[in-house]
Amino acid sequence: MPPADPAPSLLLRNAELGGRRLTDLRVSDEMVTEVAPSLRRNNGEPVYDCHGAAILPGLCDHHIHLHALAARAASARCGPPDVTGLADLAEALAAAVPDRSGWIRGTGYTESVAGDLDAPAVDKYRADRPVRIQHRSGALWILNTAALAAIGVNTAAHPGVERDANGHPTGRLWRADAWLRSRLPATGPPGLTQVGATLLGHGITAVTDATPDLGARAIAAIKQAVAHGVLPPRICLLGAPLGTPLPGDQGKPGPTSGPYKIVLADSGLLSYDELADRIRIVHVAGRPVAAHCVTREALVLLLAALSDAGPRPGDRIEHAALVPPELVPELARLGVRIVTQPGFLADRGDDFLRDVPLADRPDLYRCATLLRAGIPVALSSDAPFGPLDPWAVIAAATTRRTPGGQVAGPGERITFRQALDAYLAPPGDPGGPPRRVSPGVPADLIVLRAPLAEAARLPDPVRAVFTGGTIAIEKE
Ligand SMILES: [Zn+2]
Repeated sequence: MPPADPAPSLLLRNAELGGRRLTDLRVSDEMVTEVAPSLRRNNGEPVYDCHGAAILPGLCDHHIHLHALAARAASARCGPPDVTGLADLAEALAAAVPDRSGWIRGTGYTESVAGDLDAPAVDKYRADRPVRIQHRSGALWILNTAALAAIGVNTAAHPGVERDANGHPTGRLWRADAWLRSRLPATGPPGLTQVGATLLGHGITAVTDATPDLGARAIAAIKQAVAHGVLPPRICLLGAPLGTPLPGDQGKPGPTSGPYKIVLADSGLLSYDELADRIRIVHVAGRPVAAHCVTREALVLLLAALSDAGPRPGDRIEHAALVPPELVPELARLGVRIVTQPGFLADRGDDFLRDVPLADRPDLYRCATLLRAGIPVALSSDAPFGPLDPWAVIAAATTRRTPGGQVAGPGERITFRQALDAYLAPPGDPGGPPRRVSPGVPADLIVLRAPLAEAARLPDPVRAVFTGGTIAIEKE
């Protein structure tokens, strides 16, 4: 019997690697196998010339929402920068194209556009079709009257259904995504092809989806997209239900379930006992918690409940949008990680500086203080609610510049290297030591357009992306 064909390999030449210019790499069997100043080309081996540009491990976005990103592509924009006032909103909704089921979906709404929207207000712009508009925080949906009728709101017992003094639904649904989805026409989750291509184009080869309470269909769609190479290869799902391991948990290809997402909603916090109990249940099920925590009150409550329930390695706090300095030692003592999004400062920092009391402004999206206290900090986008581009988020972490040109919390700026490292930590160890390219690591790699110091200043620094040792994307 003839010997099996040798595994296909690829030689990457003239890369900047770990600060050393003109290094060669060989990848084979989906792994980096050799790194040396000069490697001999094997017979017939394909060669990719990096022309002196940096090679990095693929980035990990540690907090993102895959299906919401896909859905946004098929939605009417109802917030800044495209829509900033009543006239824009009216125009966007009038022009919106309904989906297959006849619904119109809007995203990105915020009060600066037209105040506190409710059903009668949305009816004024569009009453002929059911309309649902998502607040840019992701915490609130606003439905028009046709939409309320279509979901049968009159028979709804969900606590997120906001009602006026007479008990009539206002059209505002708080933190009710899973419930709302169950009452919408079954069109299936939106396709993930475009999302996958966009992620890879930014050099992202791993993501942690932070959507809570993922349903079986959403998980199946993500598994399928990974299997077909549509999504980046490494996916962790914080919303995977407790007690149902995913393929990646058992060492097979496919998504892994990470820490378990708990939402400390900005509207109506869990009671202390409920929260501590929930943390215990998650820990007993063998998973750390990933607690969505935006306000100071939520952080105080979480830290007390976590201390009571007992922390577990891997516990993480999502956002930590406001961290008062007196809570920093407790964060360090409990050993929790922070997964935060300074990209929000570049996106809506002027709103924060206007709305957050002066005394609390230094507490916004802290980074440097946390790192100094030895707290692991991972960066992420929270896309589509925050800007997706990791290079823009890294820039925001280093400058903290708002769209209006102010600097939000200059003392919390971190260096380019620190911010990049916060995207290079492994998906299972956010805020941990950054991955480096060396023999034995998976060949999920990005080739930049220039050496690292120069590429850091480019708006689109990624030239090519390799996943599993084969080229996934090459740009002009
Ligand atoms: Zn999120």
